[in-house]
Amino acid sequence: MGGSTADALRAKVRGEVIAPQDTGYDEARKVYNGMIDRRPAAVVRCTGTADAAAAIAVARDEGLDLSVRGGGHSAPGFGTNDGGIVIDLSPLQNVVVDKDAKTARAGGGCTWKVFNEATHASGLATTGGIIGSTGIAGLTLGGGIGYLSRKYGLSCDNLISAEVVTADGRVLVASETENDDLFWALRGGGGNFGVVTTFEYRMHPVAEIYGGPIVFPVDRADDILRFYREYIAEAPEELGGFVGFHLAPPLPFLPEEWHFKNVCLAVLCWTGPIEEGEKRVQPFLDVVQPVGAHVGAMPYPALNVAFDELLPPGLQHYWKASFARELGDGAVAVHAEHGAKVPSIQTAVHLYPIDGAVQRVGADDTAFAYRDQGFSPVIAGMWENPADNADNIAWVRGYYEALLPYSAQGGYIGFMDGDDQSRIQDNYRGNYDRLAAVKTKYDPGNLFHVNQNIKPAA
Ligand SMILES: Cc1cc2nc3c(=O)[nH]c(=O)nc-3n(C[C@H](O)[C@H](O)[C@H](O)COP(=O)(O)OP(=O)(O)OC[C@H]3O[C@@H](n4cnc5c(N)ncnc54)[C@H](O)[C@@H]3O)c2cc1C
Repeated sequence: MGGSTADALRAKVRGEVIAPQDTGYDEARKVYNGMIDRRPAAVVRCTGTADAAAAIAVARDEGLDLSVRGGGHSAPGFGTNDGGIVIDLSPLQNVVVDKDAKTARAGGGCTWKVFNEATHASGLATTGGIIGSTGIAGLTLGGGIGYLSRKYGLSCDNLISAEVVTADGRVLVASETENDDLFWALRGGGGNFGVVTTFEYRMHPVAEIYGGPIVFPVDRADDILRFYREYIAEAPEELGGFVGFHLAPPLPFLPEEWHFKNVCLAVLCWTGPIEEGEKRVQPFLDVVQPVGAHVGAMPYPALNVAFDELLPPGLQHYWKASFARELGDGAVAVHAEHGAKVPSIQTAVHLYPIDGAVQRVGADDTAFAYRDQGFSPVIAGMWENPADNADNIAWVRGYYEALLPYSAQGGYIGFMDGDDQSRIQDNYRGNYDRLAAVKTKYDPGNLFHVNQNIKPAA
């Protein structure tokens, strides 16, 4: 089966086709989450739209599972499968910036590091993820929360158009004026509707920022969270960032006695006039005496990759998330208790603000439905040793369950795990039926089902 599928693909695509017997197969089948150990029949390294269309045709004709991989970061490992075909878009990393029009077109295999570095050369940026190695594709299609979202909206709010290969092999443009139903669904609906080979974004004049991490003793977490919820509610939208819980990494700006100790932190990104940055960040430094801080002026792409080395590929991942309308005292108490027990140096608990420009888009203007929430908390369990899986998963679940009384029913699909499929309708609230209708129109056979899956109508 594997051989014949690979042969069928090789006859049709220009890019590399990697089958189980080929050198490099074990690398090619891997995704970012080291817990995922799947053996597809073939991985197709697409060189362009035509390769994606050809791989879609083979998967459809042979009735095989089809995974679409952008950056490969999804915690559930949707970028690979057992026995099917993987469309690997990593060769598509081209970024073309139109400085005057303030737009950028990028290939579906770009990471935020590649994208930000390319657009920074023109003094422009758009909302992207906080880690450079994450794919622009999966992040944008899920919504896209980042340092710039308070000022400029979600990544998907900055999408102008997308080139999409659909299940029947058509190559469509989706925008406000072409295939607008598909364009609506792509902005939050995930990978359900086709393979996006090109993303076109609205860009903004963001080059230098003022910010960085501030680390606090975890026993003052109550004070930090209460301060954060008040400060962020009033802060200019140029102030982005998040608060959260970690173990202190062994970095030079932190005293050695704090290394690997539980801490609370804030990571801030001020995109207004650089000379105002110190004033905007200072209140965080005044709440309680920080353990250490590393704030200052830096290029935006530098903040985006600042934590990449702490998160190499191959870690074990288990994630949970729900939106929260507010950060009330009950939720603060849960965070202070559970956040103080982060069990590994890579694990991250972050509370992202969902306000400002994100809320100025209507709940049914795009598929991303939770526009009225205050925060998007994520409990991102990440650790090295598979022998620690049970303990770490239990910790993530315990934290998540303790937060349920203070959480919306749905969460952000980018932060969902493989056992969250049952939450799909809650994640989209009033938009779910419309998404199912778009799915029925563009993918009636549910070829694109290796994702947080929206099922076509029966
Ligand atoms: C370390 C880390 C940091 C993160 N930080 C953030 C953050 O700051 N903000 C945020 O919003 N999210 C963040 N996320 C979550 C992230 O948005 C999701 O994991 C997202 O799915 C990653 O996209 P990807 O392309 O790397 O993943 P992949 O695993 O390649 O894809 C994820 C999903 O999108 C689909 N897909 C991928 N590419 C395409 C394409 N070109 N066309 C159609 N469908 C496609 C896949 O089929 C899959 O269903 C982070 C994740 C990690 C692991």
